[in-house]
Order: sequence, then C-alpha cells, then structure tokens
Amino acid sequence: MSTVESIHVDGVWKQAASGATREVVDPADTEVIAVVAEGGAEDVDAAVAAARRAFDTGPWPRTPAAERAALLHRTADLLRRDREEIALVESRDTGKTLEEGRVDVDCVADAFRYFADLVAEEPAGRVVDAGTPEVRSVVVHEPVGVCALITPWNYPLLQASWKIAPALAAGNAFVVKPSEVTPLSTLRLVALLAEAGLPAGVANVVTGAGDPVGARMSEHPDVDLVSFTGGLASGTKVMAAAAAGVKKVALELGGKNPNVVFADACATDEGFDTAVDQALNAAFMHSGQVCSAGSRLIVEESVRERFVTELARRADLVRLGRGTADGVECGPLVSAQQLARTEEYVASALAEGAVLRCGGTRPEPDADRPAAGYFYRPTVLDHCDRTMRVVREEVFGPVLTVETFRTEDEAVALANDTEYGLAGAVWTSDAGRARRVAGLLRHGTVWINDFHPYLPQAEWGGFGKSGIGRELGPSGLDEYREAKHVYQNLNPRPVRWFRG
Ligand code: NAD
Repeated sequence: MSTVESIHVDGVWKQAASGATREVVDPADTEVIAVVAEGGAEDVDAAVAAARRAFDTGPWPRTPAAERAALLHRTADLLRRDREEIALVESRDTGKTLEEGRVDVDCVADAFRYFADLVAEEPAGRVVDAGTPEVRSVVVHEPVGVCALITPWNYPLLQASWKIAPALAAGNAFVVKPSEVTPLSTLRLVALLAEAGLPAGVANVVTGAGDPVGARMSEHPDVDLVSFTGGLASGTKVMAAAAAGVKKVALELGGKNPNVVFADACATDEGFDTAVDQALNAAFMHSGQVCSAGSRLIVEESVRERFVTELARRADLVRLGRGTADGVECGPLVSAQQLARTEEYVASALAEGAVLRCGGTRPEPDADRPAAGYFYRPTVLDHCDRTMRVVREEVFGPVLTVETFRTEDEAVALANDTEYGLAGAVWTSDAGRARRVAGLLRHGTVWINDFHPYLPQAEWGGFGKSGIGRELGPSGLDEYREAKHVYQNLNPRPVRWFRG
C-alpha cells in the first residue's frame, strides 16, 4: 500500500521530512486501510512557519468577514457533496457505524454554517460610551494569529471542525494535528478547504504522535494559541508546554458524566421506557467512547432493580459488529489499547465489589464481527460507589456503573462528586425538581429529560478538570479572537499632569 502524503504545508501535500510512516487500521478487523506520514518536530516547524507567513503577510486575516463566511459555506456544501465518502472513511477509521459517520458529517457542515453566519451578521465593532462627545471609543475583534489545533480519535472530524470553523471565521491561520489513530477524515477536510478557495498556508496539517508532534506544536514560539481536545493527562502536558510562551490555551478534556434518574420519571410505562432507552443511548453510543457519555447511572433506590434489570436486558441485545454492516448498532473500540483499558477497568471494578449485570467480556465472533476486531460487550456494573476507580475515572468504553440515592440532596451530591464537570442529565416529571437539580449540577451541559444533544449555537465545555474555555456558541468564536479597544480622542489637548 502506498503512503498517503498526509502532511500539508503551504498548500503542498508531502511525506514526513524523516520519511517515517505509520499504518492506520480498521478496528473491526485490524486490516491496514492506509499508511500515512509520521511527522516530527521539523515538520511542525515547517507547518508553523507557513501558517505564520500566511497570517502575517497573506490575504486571509484581512479578508472581509462576509467573504470568509462565504468560504465556510462553500466548505459546508462540499461536505454535503462528499458526505457518503467521508462517512465511510470515518466509519472505517474509528469503527463507528456508517449512520453515525453520516450524522457527524452533517454536524460538521452545521458547525461551518453556524460560524459563517455568526461572523457575517455581527457588527464590525462595538461603540462604547466614553462619557464625552470628544472621544470615539470602539471595541473590535481581531484574529489571535497562528493556532495549533490538536484533536482526539472518537469524533475526529467533528472535533476538528469545532476548532477549524471558528478559527477560520475569525481570520486565523492554523496547523492541525489529528489523532495518530484516526487521521484520515481531517485530511479530507483540509483538501475541501483548499477546493473551497482557502489561500495556501492558512490550513496546514501534520500527522504523527502526540509526542513529538503535539508537544512541539504546544511549545512552539510562533504559535499564539493552542486548542486541545483529548484526555486529562495529555491536556495537562499541553498546558504546561504552552505556559512558557504565555499562549492562549483552550482545553476540552474528559468527563465522568452522571445520568440522574428519579423514580417519578418512571411512574408511567412510557416514562420508564424512555428513561431506560436514553440511559442505554447515553452509556453505549459509539461503544461509550464519547466525552459526554452517561457512564454513571445514579438512580433512585426504589426503582433501581426494575430499571437496571431492563437496562441490562436491552444492553445484551445491542448488535455489535463492523460499523459498515447492515443493522449493526455499535462498532468496535478504536484500538487494542482501548480494549485492554476497558477490560482492565471492569476487572478492577469486580475486584472492588461491583456486581456484573451484563457484558464483561468480548463477544463471540460472527460474520459481521471478525475475531481480530476490538469488540467489547456493553457492560453494566451494579452496586458501585465512589471508592471504586471505575466510578471516578473515565473508562471511555462501553461500561456503565450504577449508584443509588434516596433523597434529592443525595442525588445532587453524588452527581457533583467528580473531578470532572462536562455534562450530566436529570430525569424527573417534577418541573420544580428538574430546575432545582439542573441549577445545582456543576457541569458544562445539563440535560433535563434527555441525553447527548448539543447545539452549535450553545457553548460546549466543562467545569473542573473537564477543561478550560468553551467550544461552539459565541464563546467558541471568541476563543479565536483578541478584543481590541480603539480609543480616539477627537479633540487632543495637553493633559498637564506634569507641570514642568
Ligand atoms: P489523548 O489525550 O490521548 O490524545 C488527544 C490528542 O492529543 C491526540 O492527537 C494525541 O496525539 C495528542 N497528544 C498526546 N500527547 C500529547 C502531548 N504530550 N502534547 C500534545 N499533544 C498530545 O486523547 P484520546 O485518547 O485521543 O481521546 C480521548 C479523550 O478525549 C477522552 O479523555 C475524551 O473524554 C476526550 N474528549 C473530550 C471531548 C470534549 O469535548 N471535552 C471531546 C472528545 C474527546
């Protein structure tokens, strides 16, 4: 298989300077689907230099907002055109189902359109009342400069778009580093940006490992901003590396997200069915490899047995298989490492006293589920508590823990008892309780009687160790801009502070 020229610098696709390569595999059967360039620090230096030139002397930062918006809309149109092909690339690279790949492409196009409209429709500056007609004071927003964008493997294209779309809307140049496990869809997106007419040098890509590629991007003296999505351990390193240069840092990290179910939500058969169905979706969508996965079920003691029995029954029915196969509901985990990590967490939970209600093993292979694939059965662990690692730490696999409560205060305390704070949900038929609990949850997104939806126009990000800053919404654009106050004295005179 020939090597894909996956490093993009100044409009040119190339191999790594060292000539090194890496195999990209389909996690459903471990077949090699591409060989890409394995970049190093010198590739990062070349990419940052290209972005620096494009930002300092190129046309993009000086292009009117309406034209930048038009380019973003053209990119969204191209994503639509290539939807099926990109969805297939994403499905084979990550293991997710083809249908989820399609939804991802649609969400990526929506992000491009949202940020396009946001910059096209906003006023050019905000006039500030300086308290005198002799001063005209305006606050304008300018691009930050060269952005280093580092993304994870679970939603490769979607996470890249939440950075690339606002970075471009604001007028920045960037270098993006996709996860070494799933680089392929990002390459497609950057090719579409060029097709849409983005000037060379504005969008650059370096594929390769977190260290050295991501590490060099985070510390590079010519980078002005680092936006990182990934795990807590890597995010901490990125922040430390960026600190020496006092770069702007945005971090979207993990989550250990509570799904709180009150008994009143299950009072009718329909309510019970909805809450169970959504708890299943919350925990096992994309085999639990979702930063906002509802991996902690916190259910009222009086309905626990009925709820967990039904949940485990349905979890056992989830159709696991190759993401491109008809009727498959969940794909494999992304890598051997992620599978081993999941197995290790389940073993530790059982050793610490958790009770296995379903799953806990790899499935038997079948026609849609090759033996070599990284499949793991949806797993429900009952009788868990906060002393257990599996409850405190992010597994990032199809593992749901169950804790119970008796009072509203207890439910809130459990839901907030995490070092993370990305997302959480509350299920109740009591409107007052819903608002009370939502108000008390220390999480960046709170769903009431729902789980997982997000909106491009609403901020996404975390409290606590789930990160710093916000993606999406107006704040997601402001991450990529500097506010500048221009104060014009219309009648300058000496101030005579110094009298000599
Ligand atoms: P990861 O931290 O291992 O890797 C993320 C990216 O960082 C990859 O591109 C990797 O190569 C790079 N990287 C690794 N070490 C680095 C270093 N020292 N310096 C710079 N870059 C480095 O995470 P992952 O396993 O790819 O993704 C899973 C994690 O991402 C989970 O914790 C998940 O919760 C988180 N995530 C968060 C969000 C969110 O919106 N908050 C979204 C998706 C994923």
